[in-house]
This record gives sequence, C-alpha cells and structure tokens, in this order.
Amino acid sequence: MNFDLSNEQKAWKKIVHDFVAKEIKPKAREVDEQEEFNWEAVRKGGPIGLLGMSIPEAYGGSNVDAVSGAIATEELGWGCGSTALALTAHNGLGTAPIALYASEELKKKWLPLVAEGKNKLGALALTEPGAGSDLQGGVITKAEKQGKEWVINGAKMWCTNASIAEYIITLVRTDPQGGSKSLSMILVPTNSKGLQIGPAEKKMGVRGSPASGVTYDNVRVPLDNLIGPEGRGLQQTLATLDAGRISIGAISVGLAQAAMEAAVNYARERKAFGQAISEFQATQFKLADMAMEIELARTMISKAAWLKDEGRPYNKEAAMAKLFATEMAERVCYEAIQIHGGYGYSREYHVERMYRDARLMTIGEGTSEIQRLVIARHVLASE
Ligand SMILES: Cc1cc2nc3c(=O)[nH]c(=O)nc-3n(C[C@H](O)[C@H](O)[C@H](O)COP(=O)(O)OP(=O)(O)OC[C@H]3O[C@@H](n4cnc5c(N)ncnc54)[C@H](O)[C@@H]3O)c2cc1C
Repeated sequence: MNFDLSNEQKAWKKIVHDFVAKEIKPKAREVDEQEEFNWEAVRKGGPIGLLGMSIPEAYGGSNVDAVSGAIATEELGWGCGSTALALTAHNGLGTAPIALYASEELKKKWLPLVAEGKNKLGALALTEPGAGSDLQGGVITKAEKQGKEWVINGAKMWCTNASIAEYIITLVRTDPQGGSKSLSMILVPTNSKGLQIGPAEKKMGVRGSPASGVTYDNVRVPLDNLIGPEGRGLQQTLATLDAGRISIGAISVGLAQAAMEAAVNYARERKAFGQAISEFQATQFKLADMAMEIELARTMISKAAWLKDEGRPYNKEAAMAKLFATEMAERVCYEAIQIHGGYGYSREYHVERMYRDARLMTIGEGTSEIQRLVIARHVLASE
C-alpha cells in the first residue's frame, strides 16, 4: 500500500481545501444557527466536481477514485458537518446507486441533472418509522406492478436532502413473501403525485442538512424507474452503505481535525496561573492523544478507500474505519471543549457545534453496534 497521495490527489486536496476554507467553513455557524442549507456554496461546488464524485464523466460527473472521495469528504467535514453530510448523502447515497446499477436511460436522464449544481440534489430513503438497522425484516413501504407502472405506498423517515432533491431513490418491498430478494430500489421524482415530503426534522446537530419524513400515497412511476434488477435492493443497499461508511468516517476525521485545530489555537492564547494553558502537560497530553487518534482514523479510512479502488473486499475495513473514526471524533470534540473550559460550552465557539455534529456519525449509515456486528462476523468467519 502506498501511503503517499499521487500528484493528482494532492492537487485535488488543495482545490477542495481552498474551496471549503473560502465558501463553506465561514458559513458553518450561520448554517447551524439558521437551520438553513448552504445552497450558495453547494452550487459553486458543482463546477469543481464536488457534486459528481460518484458520477462518470459521460454523465457530467467528476467520478473521483475512493481515496480522492475520502480526501474531499474529510475537507468538507473540516469545514461544516451539515454541508458535508448533505453532499455525502447526495454523492454516496443519492447518485452512486444510479451510476452503479441503473439503466442507461435513467443514468442519462437523471445524473447530468444533479451533477453540476444547477438543479437540486439526490437522496436515498431506506429508513422507515419502524425500521432502520433491520431493513430486510422491517421495510414495509411496498411497490406493486399495475400495467406499466409501480404503485408505491408507505412512509420513510430521516431522508437527508429529501426537501432539496430532484428524486428520492426509495427502498421498497416488491415481494410480499419477504426474504433477502424481496426488496428493490426505485427512483421516485420528487414532483410525483402522492409524494409528500415533511418539514425538516429538528435536530441536535448537522442542523443545516435537512432530513425529512416522506410519505407515498399511491405514487405512480414507470416500471423503468427500477434501479438494478427487481429483488436486488438489499444487496445494492448493503454495497452502497459500505462505501457510505468510508464517507461518514471521513466527515468525522474532518470534524475532529477542525476541533483539534480550534483547541490548539485556544490553548496557545488562554492564560491560567501565569502561563498559556498549552504549557500545561495535561493540555499537551490531550492534544497528543487527539493528533494520534485523528491520524489513526485517517489511515483506516485511507486503507478502506484504497481497497475499494483496488476492487478488493472492504466490508470489514469500512466498518472498522467508520466505527473508529466516528467514536474518535466524539472523544476529540469532547476534549476540545474541555480545553476551551467554559467558553467551549458557549455557542460563540465552534467546538460545541462540532461536538453536536459528530454525535450523529455513530448513528447514520449503520450504528456503532451494527459496525461491531459486521466486524464480528468477519472475525468469527476467519476462525
Ligand atoms: C440526521 C440523520 C440523517 C439520516 N439520513 C438518512 C438518509 O438519508 N437515508 C436513510 O435511509 N436514513 C437516514 N438516517 C437514518 C439512519 O440511517 C438510522 O437512524 C440508523 O440506521 C439507525 O436506525 P434506527 O434509527 O431505526 O435505529 P434502530 O435500528 O431502531 O436501532 C436502535 C438501537 O438499537 C440498536 N440495535 C439495533 N439492532 C441491533 C442489533 N442487531 N444488535 C445490537 N444493537 C442493535 C442500534 O444500534 C441502536 O442503538 C438518518 C438519520 C439521522 C439521525
């Protein structure tokens, strides 16, 4: 494994870093306070390729490799958890399944529309009011064939980007008998009759990334809106989540990096007992642990992404990287607040927002418990 980035990857990292520093990071607090999606910056991200990271160039995307995707996602997380989450949901969840599994017609119709930042984004609705971790057993949103159409009925929850999306890729039950071949993915345009997108959920963190409940009341879409073969929805979902876990881990590394940088700056300036608090060994040990944990998480993310680029299995490594990086980000943000003392608890300082944003990461795209189940399955299978 090569630990050095290629020249192309280094150049990409700089482009994204500079863009995030200029357009996204300065708005992070406002986005959180106002609970508003940063459309302005996201639209500007289209031309540099941030909206087409999973989309082949033939359909208007930048189609970056997994390592470059992780690099960009870390930079986004460094700038703003909300914007990073929305773009990750768009790239990884809302466009990748189309690029990987959909018909040529669907790719041509929908991917260019969402790759450039001129229109709305993509979204993926898996979770339901009664099912999150257990999609195979729990999904009750169903699609039935009637003539040349699917008729969809049911409800989804926590759909990131639903209110700012052109379409929602929806996981539905197409075989009422159940089992691992009973789910399918269907593309549902957001202007479909009978589709209702609820108001954005009131959240603890990532408040500038809208997530809504969605209801389907006899929503009709063409049979051709099926993504991949009928009955492959669960397998397509699991593969999508493997890649998504690298991204959620990368956002977490970015959040932790930003929190550490804030803590370093504060520790140099704040005086107590006649000296900067950075002079206390207790502060230095906290910073050392932060730096070490961030480096380790980044390395784990890079390895999982590299395996993906090599076309090798990476299910275990993605689960490990997501689990470690997300729990690490919480620890780092916690200590960054501690170093800020009382100011760290104030909304005047950025670290409290980062802590709230990081808290989501151990839940979305598979909870920590589910990552441990995935890892344990591999461990037990190898003995
Ligand atoms: C801000 C936000 C954005 C989101 N965006 C999206 C999105 O864009 N699309 C989408 O489809 N979903 C989205 N989600 C939903 C998210 O993926 C789910 O919340 C997550 O998968 C967990 O599912 P759940 O909430 O139903 O929890 P549950 O599955 O009910 O789990 C509850 C608890 O039980 C534990 N648990 C469950 N099963 C087991 C087990 N077998 N062993 C041990 N412990 C277990 C879990 O780890 C958890 O601690 C989002 C959620 C949030 C909060």
